[in-house]
Amino acid sequence: TDLNKIRNFSIVAHIDHGKSTLADRLIQETGTVKDRDMKEQLLDSMDIERERGITIKANTVRIDYKADDGETYVLNLIDTPGHVDFAYEVSRSMRAVEGSLLVVDSTQGVEAQTLANVYQAIDADHDIVPVLNKIDLPASDCDRVAEQIEDVIGIDATGAIQVSAKTGQGIHETLESIVKELPAPKGDVDAPLKAMLVDSWYDAYLGVIVLVRIMDGTLKKGMKVRFMSNNTLHHVDRIGVFRPEMEMIDELGPGEIGFLTASIKQVRDTRVGDTITNERNGCEVALDGFKPAQPVVFCGLFPVDSSEFEDLREAIDKLALNDASFSFEMETSAALGFGFRCGFLGLLHLEVIRDRIEREYDIELITTAPSVIYEIHLRDGTMLELHNPADMPDMTHVEHLQEPRIKATILVPDEYLGDVLKLCQDRRGIQEDLTYAGSRALVVYDLPLNEVVFDFYDRLKSVTKGYASFDYQMTGYRQDNLVKMSILVNDEPVDALSTMVHRDRAEARGRAMVEKLKDLIPRHMFKIPIQAAIGGKVIARETLSAMRKDVTAKCYGGDASRKRKLLDKQKKGKKKMRQFGQVNIPQEAFISALKMD
Ligand code: GDP
Ligand code: MG
Repeated sequence: TDLNKIRNFSIVAHIDHGKSTLADRLIQETGTVKDRDMKEQLLDSMDIERERGITIKANTVRIDYKADDGETYVLNLIDTPGHVDFAYEVSRSMRAVEGSLLVVDSTQGVEAQTLANVYQAIDADHDIVPVLNKIDLPASDCDRVAEQIEDVIGIDATGAIQVSAKTGQGIHETLESIVKELPAPKGDVDAPLKAMLVDSWYDAYLGVIVLVRIMDGTLKKGMKVRFMSNNTLHHVDRIGVFRPEMEMIDELGPGEIGFLTASIKQVRDTRVGDTITNERNGCEVALDGFKPAQPVVFCGLFPVDSSEFEDLREAIDKLALNDASFSFEMETSAALGFGFRCGFLGLLHLEVIRDRIEREYDIELITTAPSVIYEIHLRDGTMLELHNPADMPDMTHVEHLQEPRIKATILVPDEYLGDVLKLCQDRRGIQEDLTYAGSRALVVYDLPLNEVVFDFYDRLKSVTKGYASFDYQMTGYRQDNLVKMSILVNDEPVDALSTMVHRDRAEARGRAMVEKLKDLIPRHMFKIPIQAAIGGKVIARETLSAMRKDVTAKCYGGDASRKRKLLDKQKKGKKKMRQFGQVNIPQEAFISALKMD
């Protein structure tokens, strides 16, 4: 294809501002998919994405568009994920395209993820076309939002296109702007092949599919290529494009985006950001590589029914084949038996994987407390990375600990600012900046990641009635006074409930946890002490009193119906409980005990 007739772009938006719907309309308007085959959110392939309304993997589609100038253009859209956990995937797909549509909901305005994503587009040197969406709604206020885009982001929004992705209004103008405002890609067809490995995933029929952007040269079916990062050779057996179904073609030239297959067995054998070139006389200099996405949140996944361990192993193996940012290793817990210590990009990523194991593989799981990676600096001068509080070495060997910090950007309507500042303060945050964008405050905080991974986002949503938006970036490690807190149930330490906490907050956290556990653990025939301890020192204690022999509902007093439900649940699913010494602890306790409210 003639380079001048190609436009490559992505769509950046805050979640729910209409990115997927707009993509659907662009596909439909150009006749890429026949009306009768059209279904909503065409690019969001996985069930779970559809249900939660989020896009997780970047998806791509090639659209042919006959423009008003009479020429037919090839438009390649790479759809990017909208959630903070997947910011890394956004950045890598941005590097494969030259421009972005910046979609802002004209009833809402700029949000934290709008900012985070648009900055990534600016970093990738994109030309940006602002699009104001949802103009069919009465609350739409295009002037205000255009002004806000100029004030907060600093790009010209006077020509912003007014669109309703729902009704199709403004879609034609959007297509024309893509052709007129965004630059054509550059590339040298006579140079050796230089292709960027944008993404890869596993397909049951074709094996690993590799999404590529050709920078220079031509990728042809049947040729032998070299992956420059690990110097491996592969025979290209298929080349194709997404429309959005796969369509096989014979070659891809400069500026084009498509996929190849080459009998590659595992996603792990492909490195995102790698450069693909000819086997012989390849290009001299590789593209700047990407750093691989590093898991930042770790937790244990254990089968509720220990006989399902092998099934769990199989499920995790399969999921990992297709998700290089998900890591795992076997873990044994005195409390929970055999399971896996798994690493994730963030909490949403964790939930997605956990849900898929439970749903697609039908394995019930116990999830232990999510933890970040601590750096333990030992007295002998060595450093270890702690992925699991249960592995914390004896404090007498420890010189100091460091924990990961983040820079959090929060946009919030004025009236909730006080609550947000309090929340950040409670989570050991240090305020870095506070500015205004119209009636909304833009707050920047330096926070410990461990205070954020668990329920910060939920709390933020609840104190602001859903009006705050949030985004974060990792910034580095800092020393602090951190200790391991253990939980003892009936004098037995339950390793899966160990957490790292700040020393100043240990008592409060410990008290909250033992109180929660007292509610969550059903009564037994004997008294059960529940304690929080640091080293050998107990810092909080509750006692769950014994159940009387003549069990009737009225014995429970207080919140009878809730405890009754708990008991009913216990009866229904003995399986949902784990035995610790003589005590049964329900599955939900492992997560609920850690929620701070
Ligand atoms: P995404 O998270 O950015 O991909 O957003 P979606 O495309 O999933 O849209 C979020 C919600 O807004 C969905 O319920 C859409 O139906 C709705 N929506 C998207 N565009 C429009 C629009 O132009 N008008 C109206 N009224 N609703 C829209
Ligand atoms: Mg979407």
